[in-house]
Amino acid sequence: MKPPTNPRVLFLAGLGRSGTTLLERTLAEVDGVTALGEVMHLWERGLVRNELCACGEPFLACPFWTAVGERAFGGWASVDPERMAHLKGRVDRASRVPLIARGGDSGFARDVREYVAAYLAVYRAATDLTGDVLVDSSKQSSLAWCLTLAEELDLRVVHCVRDSRGVAHSWAKKVARPEAVDGRDAEMTRYSPALISAMWTLHNATSELLGRRVPAVRLRYEDFVEAPVASTRAVLDLAGVATPASHVAADRVRLGPSHSCAGNPMRFTTGEIPLVRDDQWRSAQATGARRLVTALTAPLLAHYDYVGAGS
Ligand SMILES: [Zn+2]
Repeated sequence: MKPPTNPRVLFLAGLGRSGTTLLERTLAEVDGVTALGEVMHLWERGLVRNELCACGEPFLACPFWTAVGERAFGGWASVDPERMAHLKGRVDRASRVPLIARGGDSGFARDVREYVAAYLAVYRAATDLTGDVLVDSSKQSSLAWCLTLAEELDLRVVHCVRDSRGVAHSWAKKVARPEAVDGRDAEMTRYSPALISAMWTLHNATSELLGRRVPAVRLRYEDFVEAPVASTRAVLDLAGVATPASHVAADRVRLGPSHSCAGNPMRFTTGEIPLVRDDQWRSAQATGARRLVTALTAPLLAHYDYVGAGS
């Protein structure tokens, strides 16, 4: 009998609001690729709150995720979301990356393995059901670091970067969450420019280092929007997917429905999407906020070639 294939997971790493949902949706349209959404949030938003899958069904009623839960765990009822929340709080944090990377057999390392085992079960089930390369757009680099310890996983990383000023501006805006139920978390979280600057640096630095452990490419949001065809091809090459991406044009992409379990509200949008760089921050961001973010993120802004791009 043929041994089971190890799941191949393309993990989109970086800080939120860096264009990961757009990239995930673009990849999801390619034959041989299945996008799962932000699997990191499945345990709370899917299992506990039963929020909407991108297909429009509540998570626990979605046929795809029901099949994944059956295959992975004999049904989602066998998963303890509180235990997952506990493990997530303990191990899945950017500040824990050095500890995660060390591995070993400490109590912490055992918690990491237990946490990773749940993800591996989900990936295995999704691979068995689809035969596809999977995309996990969780973004959180500490999760990707945890996953590097799973030998059964063929992990590849796309480090998604966006200009810190644009990211800070996006995190300052009010954005509704259509998937919210009972009015809980009806809006996306907002962060101050100072806090988001620290997060931007930390998350990008820990994402950058993933390239030392697993195959990885860096993709700037601005480059993706400028050259979507070449950018998509580069990511698919990393994933080992040779299928053409004919739904991607120089200035637009055609998006269909998916079963993204959690993520940016943009996951509900389908049809032809014009690819226009969101540069709203250049005109709408307060000068003080822009100067603060520019100063606090200066070293990596230069590293990613954003210096002179509107500072
Ligand atoms: Zn669904």
